[in-house]
Amino acid sequence: MPRARILLAVAVIAAAAMFSLSGKWPWPRVREVVHVAEAPAPPPAPTHVETADTLHRGETLSELLGRNGIIAADLSGFADALDPRRLRAGLVFNFRKPVADSIPDRMTVRTSPEQRLMMVRLAGGWDTEVETIAWEPQVLTVSGTINHSLYEALDRQVSDSLLGGGAREHLAWALAEVYQWAVDFTRDTRQGDHFNVVLERLVSEEGDVRFGRVLASELSINGRDLPAYRFDGHFFDDEGNSLKRAFLRAPVEFRRISSNFSRARFHPVLGRTRKHEGTDYAASTGTPVMAAGDGTVIRAGRAGGYGNMVEIRHRNGITTRYAHLSRIQTKVGARVTQGQQIGKVGATGLASGPHLHYEFRVNGVAKDSRRVELGNGAPVEKSKRAQFEAEMDSLQRLLDGAPAPGNVPAVSAPALVAQAASRS
Ligand SMILES: [Zn+2]
Repeated sequence: MPRARILLAVAVIAAAAMFSLSGKWPWPRVREVVHVAEAPAPPPAPTHVETADTLHRGETLSELLGRNGIIAADLSGFADALDPRRLRAGLVFNFRKPVADSIPDRMTVRTSPEQRLMMVRLAGGWDTEVETIAWEPQVLTVSGTINHSLYEALDRQVSDSLLGGGAREHLAWALAEVYQWAVDFTRDTRQGDHFNVVLERLVSEEGDVRFGRVLASELSINGRDLPAYRFDGHFFDDEGNSLKRAFLRAPVEFRRISSNFSRARFHPVLGRTRKHEGTDYAASTGTPVMAAGDGTVIRAGRAGGYGNMVEIRHRNGITTRYAHLSRIQTKVGARVTQGQQIGKVGATGLASGPHLHYEFRVNGVAKDSRRVELGNGAPVEKSKRAQFEAEMDSLQRLLDGAPAPGNVPAVSAPALVAQAASRS
């Protein structure tokens, strides 16, 4: 029945036309799928011009502002809000100027990672507003192989899109700090060591990325597996024992031993003339030297070939010596705590170049501090044990590459799991 079909078709078209006119369609409408080759509308004429300028060396704030058209303005509100220590060469100021005007109507400057100052021109003068820049934490997992040094491994295997160069350096320092009682990254690492780290990075509303903190880590160093889980602001191993020990592995401010964390190699002049009874850390003059453990200073001064030396007595007949110092920053009888600065690296006494000579002695006999068994750290409090286990489980899932729960906006979690290709 062709006629009936035509009628039906007409009826359908008519119904569609009616729906169309009424704006009510009986089915969901696909939005905006219109492919019309049409020249894009010309962008609206700009109403403002935005520019940036940098504070030059030795320049005052009013000089910079004057160069940008802000002359003889009352800056007191701004000056009050701006910490003068932040007012350094290189600080970037952003200006917004109406096209039809010769004076900017807005100026902003980032005075710290968390703060921005904004000056807005009003009829009666300039108004200063302090804005807080929000940083959102994002959890990600990075892993890879250490072939030369921790820093080099992180630098090569963590992409810029996950963490920029500066943030990677901070991550290396933070990891060195987590393991400061277990690993001397300048000499303990071996080819093929492995790292797997869950960390928090912070992303600002403007898209800047910086390092936040280490949440958990699995390190395989020279055949040793070293898990670490953050709990209550401290790090514990998988049995709930604190990573903290009575002695630091390396009593030199680690981040300054060598900028690229390469294995420090040093040939002391002492080596040829007598048995070498310690560990040498090559570091530039002035690098802070720290007490390896809590104790009492029993020597602080000139000591022959040792040059300027500090000796500390600890518990259990242990003493530590720090030699060739350029400066001594403690005195005999002083009580020192682990990590406290006691002097600076130098080349006094029999030293061919700046380095720290460190000795670990037990009952007067020098021992290789790396071979001294330091036992377990304090365990998690009994009352917090269940809480720790739960926390460790969720961190372990992240270490194993599971997507981060909840608060990971912007990028989907699997994309954040950087399984760096392990090159051998
Ligand atoms: Zn030495």
